[in-house]
Amino acid sequence: MTALLRATGIHKSFGEREVLRGVDIDLATHEVVALIGASGSGKSTLLRCLNLLEPIDDGQIFLDDEDISDPRIDANRVRARFGAVFQSYNLFPHLTVLDNVTLASRVVHRTPRREAEARALELLGRIGLADLAREHPDRLSGGQQQRAAIVRAIATDPEVLFLDEITSALDPELVGEVLELVRQLAADGATILMATHEMAFARDVAHRVVFLDAGTIVEQGPPADVLAAPREPRTREFLARFT
Ligand code: ADP
Ligand code: MG
Repeated sequence: MTALLRATGIHKSFGEREVLRGVDIDLATHEVVALIGASGSGKSTLLRCLNLLEPIDDGQIFLDDEDISDPRIDANRVRARFGAVFQSYNLFPHLTVLDNVTLASRVVHRTPRREAEARALELLGRIGLADLAREHPDRLSGGQQQRAAIVRAIATDPEVLFLDEITSALDPELVGEVLELVRQLAADGATILMATHEMAFARDVAHRVVFLDAGTIVEQGPPADVLAAPREPRTREFLARFT
């Protein structure tokens, strides 16, 4: 299996603090990888580095064998091939849901408005939000907002979808509807790298689980191995908090 996205030897420090200490990670097309690890272990930083939102200090990142960590690369062109959803504040509050979802298509990909809106309404319809398309995000529940944010992220048909603890800020009763949408995207063949604390979800949906501890990957493999029968003491210790 050749990797769609492949990073080697990623180092990243903030001042004196080394947050990523030589991370190697790859992602194949249609693969769903769950990135787990304690708060502060570097999950968000890793996603932001891979996404070219954060410069790396050392290492290389390849997308389809193109070195996208080369400083001469056009980061906006590369990011146009990615989609990302974060914990919160994903939608622009001053834009309608529809304008949020179509913004990247119209501005970055230069899709005509009519076409972008038809596609957005189709996607919003699939998750039961077409009726709220003309509303502003504050009229939506947190779960509806995150689902709209996911739809916004996939509206441009990204090659890789980065999800960073997208249910962490939600009330518990709203988590399920968001995870269900991710489950559907995974079933439809999306390529997803998601940082998550939802272990049951990772077990059911991810093809591979990667455990990050203090900026290094300690263990990775199929969920049945890493989550159910971890080899490393640090993985066991971390997972014990969830039972
Ligand atoms: P996680 O997502 O696993 O909780 P993060 O990647 O957010 O971990 O953070 C890892 C460490 O890096 C933390 O100690 C955090 O305080 C630090 N950190 C993250 N972003 C920055 C930043 N922009 N400036 C300084 N420190 C940061
Ligand atoms: Mg984080």
